[in-house]
Amino acid sequence: MNIKNTIFRLVLMLVLLSPGLFSDADSADSPISVTKLSPRAIVLTFPDDPMQNNIIAIKSEKGIVVVDTHSSPSTAVEIRKKIIEEFQEENFAYVIDTHSHGDHTCGNQVFSDAVIIAHEACIPEMLEYAKRQPQMANRLKSILKQMKAGLEKMDKTSEEAQALERRITYYELAAKETESGFVLTLPEVTFKDRMSLNLGDLHLDLYYFGLCHSKSDILVYCPEEGLLLTGDLFSTGHELYVDSERILHFDRWEKNLEMFVDQDKKINFIISGHKEFLEREELSRHLDFIRKKKEEFKGKSSAFFAAKKIYQEEGLEAAAKGLKEMSTQPQKYYLLYPELDQYVYYMMLDGKLDEAAVFFETLAELFPDKSMAYDSLGEVYKRKGNIKLALKNFKKSLELDPENRNAKMQIDQLEKKK
Ligand SMILES: [Zn+2]
Repeated sequence: MNIKNTIFRLVLMLVLLSPGLFSDADSADSPISVTKLSPRAIVLTFPDDPMQNNIIAIKSEKGIVVVDTHSSPSTAVEIRKKIIEEFQEENFAYVIDTHSHGDHTCGNQVFSDAVIIAHEACIPEMLEYAKRQPQMANRLKSILKQMKAGLEKMDKTSEEAQALERRITYYELAAKETESGFVLTLPEVTFKDRMSLNLGDLHLDLYYFGLCHSKSDILVYCPEEGLLLTGDLFSTGHELYVDSERILHFDRWEKNLEMFVDQDKKINFIISGHKEFLEREELSRHLDFIRKKKEEFKGKSSAFFAAKKIYQEEGLEAAAKGLKEMSTQPQKYYLLYPELDQYVYYMMLDGKLDEAAVFFETLAELFPDKSMAYDSLGEVYKRKGNIKLALKNFKKSLELDPENRNAKMQIDQLEKKK
């Protein structure tokens, strides 16, 4: 953990411990802990959820607004109960989904008495996500099985065992309705650019952030409370992921952040979708990053877009050759390794092994210091049944990055096969 992080945690801890502003309203029978930001704004979390989703509820003259609905109907039912208990009313006016991901929207159905609002891209993304719902349910089940097996071997009186037991209880709750009781509940009101909600005594401003963590990320701002809700856009210590598609959204990212960093907007709390709250400085750091990146890519074109076009129009050899040529013109083109690798990886998963091998060879040539490039090359040769070349590349990958666990595992397996 870096020093900045440690200091932030200490400050946060002090704030959490100080009476008055914050109080932990944890009652013995509730799995939820509540952080009171003000008399009309609270944050709800499940302390035993390793993802620590932050659900925000705001009480207004026109009813309660809930931002994000957690990962399953059963967890959302608990959230709903707790909000009613806290605010002593159950007039739910609006639900706002900060983005489409299931851990933020799978509880929507529990608040179907409210109007659900999100960015317009949220709907197609949610429909995509719903297709993976059975897989998610299976994953939850297998995590549960593993944890229970782990618990069997532990000393039941130990603190660790008790923490694991609480975690199991949490997962059992979350898994309860993911299969049978799950009803995909889409937003009914969507917006494209920005939207304002007049709630009588307070307002909410919703801004589309641009393609970033997902296609549907928004910022939610309540000026009266000085509350900025950022969904999964930012997390402490991490940079924003950048690829050719996202570079096209830089202006929008910058404009959105400038609004909160440069202008004198009141901000008391910045709450992200998971875990600890953010500091204003964190936003400045992301804005600096975007400005630096904008400068870096200014006037340059994406080699990935260009190579994809050549591949579709002229085929494999031309595209590989084109990519190599573009790499010699850094003033004109930028090459981002992760998106190139990912594209070819999907090609490989689609069964186009020969083509993927040619592209992976090209990428290893263009990025000779990247351990991942040889890892991918090893993978495609393994799938092609060429054990010798697979081994050679996995070994090269491990040499460049001794921490590469996949390469280690592959080498062990392939050595046995030899
Ligand atoms: Zn997310």
